[in-house]
Parts: sequence; structure tokens; C-alpha cells
Amino acid sequence: MKTLVMKFGGTSVGSADAIRQSAEIVRAAQAQWPRVVVVVSAMSGVTDALLKAAHTAAAGDADTFRSIAVELRTRHFTVLETLLPPAAQSRARAEVLAYLSEFEALCHAVNVLGEASARALDAISSLGERMSIHLLTACLGLIGVQAEPIEATELIVTDDHYQSATPIVDLTRSRTQARLNSLLERGVVPVVTGFIGATEQGVVTTLGRGGSDFSAAILAVALDADEVWIWTDVDGVMTTDPRIEPKAQTLGELTFREISELAYYGAKVLHPKTIRPVVERGIALWVKNTFNPQQPGTRIIKDNGHVVGSIKAVTVIRGQTMLTVEGRGMLGVPGVAARTFGAVARTHTSVSLITQASSEQSICFTVPAAAAATVIAALRDEFRRELEQQDIDDVSAMENVTIVTVVGAGMRHTPGIAGRIFSALGAQGLNVIAIAQGSSECSISLIVDATDGDGAVRAIHGLIAS
Ligand code: ASP
Ligand code: MG
Repeated sequence: MKTLVMKFGGTSVGSADAIRQSAEIVRAAQAQWPRVVVVVSAMSGVTDALLKAAHTAAAGDADTFRSIAVELRTRHFTVLETLLPPAAQSRARAEVLAYLSEFEALCHAVNVLGEASARALDAISSLGERMSIHLLTACLGLIGVQAEPIEATELIVTDDHYQSATPIVDLTRSRTQARLNSLLERGVVPVVTGFIGATEQGVVTTLGRGGSDFSAAILAVALDADEVWIWTDVDGVMTTDPRIEPKAQTLGELTFREISELAYYGAKVLHPKTIRPVVERGIALWVKNTFNPQQPGTRIIKDNGHVVGSIKAVTVIRGQTMLTVEGRGMLGVPGVAARTFGAVARTHTSVSLITQASSEQSICFTVPAAAAATVIAALRDEFRRELEQQDIDDVSAMENVTIVTVVGAGMRHTPGIAGRIFSALGAQGLNVIAIAQGSSECSISLIVDATDGDGAVRAIHGLIAS
């Protein structure tokens, strides 16, 4: 029997209207699919509010979390009152109230302790999804869809790496099947919390910010589902950010590797851990728009080697600083790169892009601007001797740069792409500071001055064949 897993993101459950729309989508899907599982995020902004409450409480503020509790109650109750007749509100109302009192108790404890552990943060930030499932379930009941709210703490077993837990696949599979199959056989739609799981001992964990997509993938794999549909607030994955280039279009198809590159380079389309398990098992993965459900959206496919077309999408990461370690004394000296990135790693900074000149006289890479000072200090420390002996001339920084990444699996079969990119930029008078090409040849990244970022995106977007 065919199984469909659908995930609704924060904006898809962000208001009474959005929830009604999502519920209609579930009802329509149920007419086509014998088994439908729904995964939901917290209402948009709720996870942020919960975490803000926890952090302010830890910092000694005993008021903010209480006012956040009031706001959250109003927000959830308004939805219930708008959507449901009074008699149908009571269960969801009671659930929301119970979670809000748990929330206040947890924040109070954090406030007394003056510290929020990762475990406490997970207990607190999990509450948004634990409330939202009741809103959607109640709305489904109202339109005649039999649904049951389920906390993923019953299904997804994880390690105890709080705030970014990893699921334990076989335990998750057996628990999920044991709990959900009987519901699905009776035609009941399980409405499952995204984002969260629990350790074997039952302690709540979260899968990391944006983790509800990943939850949908985990459940799809556990149930051997046929398709996963991620419902969001845009028409699938776009060629670029439409705020930068209004001519941006929805992509009909994107390979696993292309979307991974896009996710890595800042386009927040899907949680990066979502895609691999699903696509590798041949489960169809779609990104669709709750507010425009007639559009087919974007399908994510396996890398198949026959990709046509060259440039598919272009994306930016802003707020970077480019660092350069250079010196004639580096020529042919092994270990300089390892020491450079070892020093960076000790500062827990992640490097977005690396290039090394073939003369081996410089290594250049980018880090988020906020980390630059710390990284420079670490590098000066690591290379103190070489700097004194002038084997390394300098560790220098260029501030305010932007990375522009061009993605397309077909680029590797198409000669001259880099040339066309440079010509397009040159024609606009835009200067490229450095360039890196991934060895997969599926992406090319350019460093440009921050003021040239949007112009570079538009110039390159013009090369995408429409
Ligand atoms: N509510 C969680 C977050 O905001 C998970 C999600 O929305 O995917 O990060
Ligand atoms: Mg998301």
C-alpha cells in the first residue's frame, strides 16, 4: 500500500488560514493515497520565541519568559477560536495550556539555575511542535479527516547529542512501524511533531534548527514510504532568491548533489540531512507551496549522470571575510595547509571556501566576518616562527566580501562555463576577487566585493537558459 509523508513548515501552520489550507491539502492527499503521514513544524517564529525565553531566563531575566508564555497562549488560542466551534476546542486548548505551564516551569528552573543546558534547551524548544500538532489535528477533525496527534518522542529514537541529535535507525524503524502502522491501516492520519525525538531513556532531544524536514525523511525511511512532500511557502526551489532577481523561476527538477550545494551555500531550501536518506532509497522527494498547491513544485532526483542544461541556480552567502596566508617561504613546504586549517578548526570556525594559488605562495579562504578576528589571532599564533623569519609574509584579511555560488550538475559536461561567467561579470564591470571550483564540478564559487554581490547574481542568472 502506497505511503505518502507530508511535512508542513512553520508558515504552513503559522495562522488559522494557513492551517485550514494545510488541512485541505491533507484531505485532498488522502483521497489519492491510502496511507498519509503528516509532520508539522511549530507555528512560524515559535521556536525562536521559546529559545529567546530560555536564554533570557538563563541570563537572570524572570519577566521575558512569562510575557512570551502569554504571547504564545494568545497566538495558539486565536487559531483555535478562529477555526473551531467552542465544543471542538477543548482538547487542543487543554494540551496547549499544559505545555505552556511546562514551559514556564522549565524557564523558571533555568532562571533559578542561571544556566540553560543543551538538554534544557531541547526540552524548551520542543514545545512549539508539541503544541502545533494539536491545532492541525483539531482542524483536520473538523473537515472530516480522522487524525491523531503523535509526539515523535514515541517514534524517533536518537543519541543524546542534545540540540543536534542523530537518529538510531533500527530502533526508530521498529518503533515507528509499531506505533503508526495500525493507525494507517485504519485510515487515520498521524500528525507527528517535526524537529524532535527522544533518547532510549525517553529524554526529549531535537534534531537541530530546521530539523522538521529531517523528521519527515526519517519517518519516510522507517515506513518505506513512496513519496515525501515538503510543503513550504515558495513554489519549490528557485533559480535564485527572487528578492535579488525578480526573474527567478522555480526549478522543475534538481539533483541530490545540486540541492546539497545550494543548501551548503546558504539557500535555505531543505534541511541538509533530509535529502540523502530519502533519495538514496528511491523515495520521491518534492518541495511544494502550501499557498499555491496547484503548482507541481520541484522534484529532487538522484544524480544520474545524464543531466542536461548547465547553470541551474545561483546563490549567495553574505557577511564573509577573506583571509590570505602568503609568503615565498611556503613554496613546496608541506604541512602549511594542514597547519592553517588546524588553527582555524581550533577556533571552531567553519570555512566556506578555499583556494590555493598554483604557485603555492598563498592560501586563501573565507570565514564568517564575526569569526575573522579570532581566526587571524589563531593563525598568527600558529605561524609565529614563520612570520618572524619572513617565510610567511603576512596573514591578511579582506573584509566585506560575498560568495556567489553557481550550481549545476550539467556544468561538468559543458565546456566554457567559467568563461561565460567571467564575461557576464566583466560586461557589468564586476570584479572577481577569487574563484574555487568544487571537484565534483557541480559548482563554481566566486568571491566578490559585498557591494557587487547582487549584481553578480543577476549577471550570472542571465546565463540560465529559460
Ligand atoms: N521549529 C523548528 C525550527 O524552527 C524546526 C523546523 O521548523 O523545521 O527550527
Ligand atoms: Mg524549515
